[in-house]
Amino acid sequence: MLVVKNLTKRFGGFTALESINISIGAGERIGLIGPNGSGKSTLVNCISGVLPVSDGSVHFDGDNITHLPPHRRTQLGIGRTFQIPKPFESMSTLQNVCIPLEYAARYGNHGEALPDRAQQILADLDLRSKADLLPEGLTQIDLRKLELARAIAIRPKLLIADEVMAGLAGAEIDEVLGLLQRLGKSGIAIIMIEHIMHAVMEFSERMIVLNTGKVIADGAPDDVINDAIVEQVYLGE
Ligand code: ADP
Ligand code: MG
Repeated sequence: MLVVKNLTKRFGGFTALESINISIGAGERIGLIGPNGSGKSTLVNCISGVLPVSDGSVHFDGDNITHLPPHRRTQLGIGRTFQIPKPFESMSTLQNVCIPLEYAARYGNHGEALPDRAQQILADLDLRSKADLLPEGLTQIDLRKLELARAIAIRPKLLIADEVMAGLAGAEIDEVLGLLQRLGKSGIAIIMIEHIMHAVMEFSERMIVLNTGKVIADGAPDDVINDAIVEQVYLGE
């Protein structure tokens, strides 16, 4: 479904991603890991169209989407969260979810009553009691869930969750993990970017490891985690 071919991203003279090749099938659950600064968010930004690539290409469902703007990629079914949640600060939780729903209704024509669907999404993410709160009134975990709610409102075929568990504690991590697992079971392909190793190991069918802008491992979680190079990157010599 998603094919990234020889993708390179430079910021001035700095190469953040160097000739990345990855493929992701429909419904796959992928863990994308790597040290801070290894290029994970940059890769998400190139896949979702927030950043232009310097070289290489991105293909989705057989179409070359390399030069499509972000909203066109959203329409094709790529949903993503931002590492730093970006809700509309002057709108309630419910209104925040209505924006992408209205957008999807305009272009995707799912034919559902919008407020009902928004309430349903909030219920799915256990946010219903927060429907009328502004983002400033939400806790860290609720902000993360709102970010997920906005991404799944467009009914993505591929959801990219960029560190949605960052800053959360034990039981909250399990709650968000459960949410992502449920979404995965509903058939959405998910790329989970995460530092919390037990969570990403439990979630993933396959793991891809980035280091200094290159893919250094791509395979079954157990194999990846026992890989000598991955071990060296995470633990040192
Ligand atoms: P990760 O998400 O894996 O922590 P990032 O993709 O955020 O890593 O960053 C990869 C590298 O690219 C880092 O060295 C970062 O400083 C650099 N980088 C990211 N975005 C920009 C940008 N907009 N301009 C310049 N450098 C950037
Ligand atoms: Mg990042």
